Amino acid sequence: MRRFAGCLVRIRFFVAVILLLTILGSGATPLQAETEAAAKLGPNGSEKLGPNGSEKLGPNGSEKLGPNGPMVGIELGSGLWQKTFASEIKGSRIRVQTFAKQWLLPSPVILRAYKGSILVSGRSFDEPIRLQAEEGALDYDGLTLEGNIECWPEDSLGWTILERLPMERYLPGVVAKEVSASSFAPAALRAQAIAARTYALYHTLIRPDQRRHVYATTRSQVYGGSKDIPIEVKEAVEATRGQVLMTDGQVFESFFHSTCGGVTCSGETYFNLTPMAALSSVNCGECHKAKYYRWQLQLPEAVLRDAVSRVASRYGIEVGKIRKVTPAEVSKSGFVSYLEVRHDKGSLEISTRQLRGSLSSLETPVRLRSTAFDVIAVEGGFLFRGRGYGHGVGMCQMGAKGHAANGKDHDEILRHYYRDTEIRKLW
Ligand SMILES: [Zn+2]
Repeated sequence: MRRFAGCLVRIRFFVAVILLLTILGSGATPLQAETEAAAKLGPNGSEKLGPNGSEKLGPNGSEKLGPNGPMVGIELGSGLWQKTFASEIKGSRIRVQTFAKQWLLPSPVILRAYKGSILVSGRSFDEPIRLQAEEGALDYDGLTLEGNIECWPEDSLGWTILERLPMERYLPGVVAKEVSASSFAPAALRAQAIAARTYALYHTLIRPDQRRHVYATTRSQVYGGSKDIPIEVKEAVEATRGQVLMTDGQVFESFFHSTCGGVTCSGETYFNLTPMAALSSVNCGECHKAKYYRWQLQLPEAVLRDAVSRVASRYGIEVGKIRKVTPAEVSKSGFVSYLEVRHDKGSLEISTRQLRGSLSSLETPVRLRSTAFDVIAVEGGFLFRGRGYGHGVGMCQMGAKGHAANGKDHDEILRHYYRDTEIRKLW
């Protein structure tokens, strides 16, 4: 069997070496960020929507962060779309701003994004715009958003919708979506708050010149806006205000996932990251009560072939009827990085990460819950028998729930899943 040649092609997705930024100590990279106060528009609306400069802190790092931390840019949508924004408070108008001008329009306003222009309640713009309710928040797509809404043109691709708000006001909308406030003990909620804050801070640091830092979905961490935040979540975020995880004095990409199924997956196995203790594989021991601790998925051959073909076609490879599927590369912790697929036209190796993505984007999406599985041929298709839910890297949320129920505090939980780390309060 040959790799990279003939009918066998190894399809790898290389992730660049993880970028770690020192933000404390001498010689530190300055934490460039916008304070809440600086980024807010004044009541008279005289401030302009600067593309970068006017809202930013200086490059010398001398400025202190406000109590709500740096601004976070959350991508809510992109492409060509039509969306309605309404004031949460009845009678409150909506301020629409460009770099130089502003308008007060009655609520709701309807936005239509076209290539190169955006229509706002009948007015056409070809430059970035910002929306803000005169009073209160904006309702959009079932979400209530307290931050500034911005729409930015993306070349010919359409327009990106962003919400920008300070870290501490963003986090409740993440923790409330990522875990269950009613069934997770306070220690688990606090651990989640710190992991989510660290993850978001990492992404603001690696993209200091971009307005978008995270997505509002599992592509980053799920965000559900500012409405209906349980009191337990508010308390967990408040109790850990400004606290992030650091390893060797550096903020890192603190991944987390639903259920590891017994052992977590290392960052190098799933994301091809440079090995680091903070994202190494650890025994979990506490997620055995989770729904997807063990699972099975039976895939018809045609569905699997469709998903594999979508990946293989990017490399110009045709996939015939699939005859056999075998894990080709399995980590010590049992996570499969590559599958060997033998089909009527040859064989190939496919990254399980790419296969998961491909299955989830089929017309009828299929969830391959994790990459820890074995697979056998059955009548008409293949049976995947697996453990866990999610990529498996970093903190196991269901495991954190179990550890908290057993009396561990948030610090112990975090240090269990993220080795060689410590909590530091940055604001
Ligand atoms: Zn677990």
